[in-house]
Amino acid sequence: MTTEPDSWTLVAGGAGFIGSHLCRTLLERGERVLCLDNLQTSRVSNLDILERYPAFRFVKGDISHPLPVEVMRQTRSIRRIYNLACAASPNLYQADPEHTMLTNVVGTDRLLRLAEQSGARFLLTSTSEVYGDPDIHPQPEHYRGNVSCTGPRACYDEGKRAAETLAFDFARMGRADVRVARIFNTYGPQMRIDDGRVVSNFIGQILEGEPLTIYGDGSQTRSFCYVEDTVDALIRLMEADLPEVTPINIGNQHELTIAELVEALGDIVGEEVEVVHRALPTDDPTRRRPDISRARAMLAWEPTTPLVAGLRKTFAWFASEHGARSHARPAPRVHAEPARSRI
Ligand code: UDP
Repeated sequence: MTTEPDSWTLVAGGAGFIGSHLCRTLLERGERVLCLDNLQTSRVSNLDILERYPAFRFVKGDISHPLPVEVMRQTRSIRRIYNLACAASPNLYQADPEHTMLTNVVGTDRLLRLAEQSGARFLLTSTSEVYGDPDIHPQPEHYRGNVSCTGPRACYDEGKRAAETLAFDFARMGRADVRVARIFNTYGPQMRIDDGRVVSNFIGQILEGEPLTIYGDGSQTRSFCYVEDTVDALIRLMEADLPEVTPINIGNQHELTIAELVEALGDIVGEEVEVVHRALPTDDPTRRRPDISRARAMLAWEPTTPLVAGLRKTFAWFASEHGARSHARPAPRVHAEPARSRI
């Protein structure tokens, strides 16, 4: 984007995990960033890092409600809108399912209308959850998914599917220039330790000296992408000249079982970790891995952070943020040697 002096990039959900990394990268690129966040699931301390940049502004607001006047006042100067506003961890998005659904549907509609009024380009962060418990593996974008519309994950899965529908309708009707990213499991620094996702849970449990809670038998798979790779893809997608509007999978193709993730973390901390098994949540997908051919072809992008390297950085960050607060044993030492594997 050519950065005009008075133009804004609006990041809804900019105080959250991926959003705060995105805001920082945009600021480093010289963009002026207006962050809109309701602080429902974000870490408020993520804002401390961002507020050091003079080109950063924070507005507290919920996209499922009318957009705050501080945002609407800037309508004519907004050039880019990234929508990352939604609780994304199963236990947090299920805590208030109606709000999750409305955030995705009503909130996305409000931001699309803002894009229409301002002429800004709009990027929706959708999710691998639109594929549900997939029958096709790995998941390409043309796969229509296997989603329950009545289960506990539906507020998020179906909410994101409806948000995609709105985005594509705005595009088809020429009302907005839209991009849709389907983000697969992402991890890294600045996650909330209590957000309930597997990487943050396991690292938090290691730091507290507690057994790692494997849901089910640990044979379900996921493919984890380091957050800086995800952010790189989002910016490429926003800035690319695309021949057509199409969803694009953003994720890492390195697939592993949850039991293998436990082993990888055990290797990193250099000790056996204890595990305890808990019930598998309802509708928990049995496997997930992105087909990223489209991202490779259209964005010249693929992840560059190998899992072990990303986990080491994430562990080190959690240890320095939370280790001091741990009442249990001291944080295990993270082995310093560089990772040898790639992705
Ligand atoms: N999981 C687990 N232990 C935990 C948290 C999650 O075994 O403490 C499992 C969960 O059942 C799922 C996978 O790890 O199969 C990824 O869960 P997460 O909540 O991180 O994201 P999801 O991909 O399910 O949205």
